[in-house]
Amino acid sequence: MIEMSDSNTDDETDDGLGHPTRDKKHVRALEDGHYEDIWVFCETQRGELLDVSLEMLGKARELMDQFADDYGEEERVVAFLMGDDCEGLAEECIARGADVAVYHDDERLERFLHKPYTEIAAHMARGEGSLESTDWREYDKPRYVLFPATNNGRDLSAKVQAELDSGLASDCSDLFIEENEVSNPVKTGEPGVKKTFEKVLHMKRPDFSGFEYSTILCLDNPGREFHPQGASVIPGSFEPMEPDPEREGLVVEHEMELEDDWFRVEITDADRLEEGVDLTGHDVVVCLGRGIADDPTGGMELGLELVDAFEDAALGITRGIVTSSYEFEGHVEAYASEERQIGETGQVVAPDLYVAAGVSGAVQHKVGMDESDTIVAINTDTDARIRDFSDYFVEGDLFEVLPRLTEAVKSDAAEIALEPTPDAEAEVEAGAAVGGDEDD
Ligand SMILES: Cc1cc2nc3c(=O)[nH]c(=O)nc-3n(C[C@H](O)[C@H](O)[C@H](O)COP(=O)(O)OP(=O)(O)OC[C@H]3O[C@@H](n4cnc5c(N)ncnc54)[C@H](O)[C@@H]3O)c2cc1C
Repeated sequence: MIEMSDSNTDDETDDGLGHPTRDKKHVRALEDGHYEDIWVFCETQRGELLDVSLEMLGKARELMDQFADDYGEEERVVAFLMGDDCEGLAEECIARGADVAVYHDDERLERFLHKPYTEIAAHMARGEGSLESTDWREYDKPRYVLFPATNNGRDLSAKVQAELDSGLASDCSDLFIEENEVSNPVKTGEPGVKKTFEKVLHMKRPDFSGFEYSTILCLDNPGREFHPQGASVIPGSFEPMEPDPEREGLVVEHEMELEDDWFRVEITDADRLEEGVDLTGHDVVVCLGRGIADDPTGGMELGLELVDAFEDAALGITRGIVTSSYEFEGHVEAYASEERQIGETGQVVAPDLYVAAGVSGAVQHKVGMDESDTIVAINTDTDARIRDFSDYFVEGDLFEVLPRLTEAVKSDAAEIALEPTPDAEAEVEAGAAVGGDEDD
C-alpha cells in the first residue's frame, strides 16, 4: 500500500494511467434548477439537414404546441447545430418548426467529430458563452432534448447527456408529454407517499426484440435533478413539418473558443457510396437473421446461393445481424451492412415470396415485410413469433433447409416437407411455394 501511494504521488514517474479519472470534474446536477424549452440536435451531412432532423423538429413543434394548450405556457423549440457555414441551415430550421436556432460555425466542424461536437453542445445547453449569444434565454438547462438515433447522433447523445448529468432514452419511436404519479420512494423521498411529476416527457421505445414497448421517464430524485430529459429518435418515426418560409424565429450564432486539442482526429479523405442497395421491386427476397450465428459466413453463403437460384431475388438481413458482432469473411462482409436491413428502420419490401431464415419476427422486422404475398419462415423454434404471420413455416435448421430449398428451386421438381401454418397445406412443392417462379 505504501508503495502504491508513493508511486501515485510521484508526478515525474506518473504515466497518467494509474489515475485515468484524476482530472475528471464531477458535474453536480442542479437543485431547484430552472428548465425550459425543447432542444433538437439538427444533424447535417454534406451541407444539408438530415431528414431525421426535420422529423424531430416537426415532432418537437407538435409537442410544444400541445404543451402550450395543456399548461398555458409558451415554451420554445430550439434547434442547435454545428458545421462549416451552417447559418443558412439554422434559418431552414426556423422554417421547419423551430422558434430559435443556435448554430456554431467553424470549418473544422464540417464533419462530425465527437469531442468538439460534445463540448459545443454541452456549452450551448448550459447557456455559456457571451451575453449576446445567450441573452435570449433565462434558464439553466433545456427541459427536454432530442437527438437523432443515427451513428453520430447516438454517439453525441450519450456524451452530451453525461456532460449535463442527465439520462437518455435511446432509439425512441414515440414521444408525448404528460404528468406522472409515482410512489417509488427513490423518487418521492418517502415510502408510502405518491408524488405527481408535471410535464414529463414520455419516451416510448420497443424493447425485448420489439415484443413490447417501454415508456422511459427521466424523473428527478429528491435533491438531485435530471435535466434535460433526453431521447434519441429513430429516423422515420415522425413526419416533418411542411417548410414555411414565412415563419419567424431567432437565429443565434454561438460563441466559444474551440481548443486545438479537440481536433486531434483529422479526416483526411471521405468517400461516398455511389448508390445504396434497393431491395424493393424484386420477385423474391431472402432474409437472414441471427439464426446464422453458428457460422455467419456459411449462413450468408447459403442465403446468397438461394438468391442466385431465382431469376430476380435479393438478399436482406434483420437488424439483429446489423448490430451483431459477427465476423464475416471478406467475400460476404458487404451483405451484412445496414443498407440491406429490412424493417421499421430499414427498407419495406413486399415481394411475391419472402423467405425468412433464422428470423424471430420482431414487430420492427414484421412491418418491413408482412405485405409480402407469400412468407416462408425457416426456424428451429416452433414458438418463434414469425410463425404467426408466415404462410409456410419450416421447422428446421437453416443450415440444412436452405441448401435443400436451393436445390428444389434449381430443379423445380424436388419436394420439401413444410409444416403448415394453420391455413397452409402440409406438403408443398418448392415451385408452388415460390409462386410465379416457374421460369427459374
Ligand atoms: C428502435 C428499434 C428499431 C428496430 N428496427 C428494426 C428493423 O428495422 N429491422 C429488424 O429486423 N429489426 C429491428 N429492430 C430489432 C428487432 O427488435 C429485433 O431485435 C431483430 O429483428 C431480431 O433479429 P433476428 O430475428 O435476426 O434475431 P433473433 O431475434 O435473435 O432471432 C433469431 C431467430 O433464429 C432462430 N434460429 C436460431 N438458430 C437457427 C438455425 N440454425 N436455423 C433456423 N433458425 C434458427 C431462433 O429460433 C430465433 O427465432 C429494431 C429494434 C429497435 C429497438
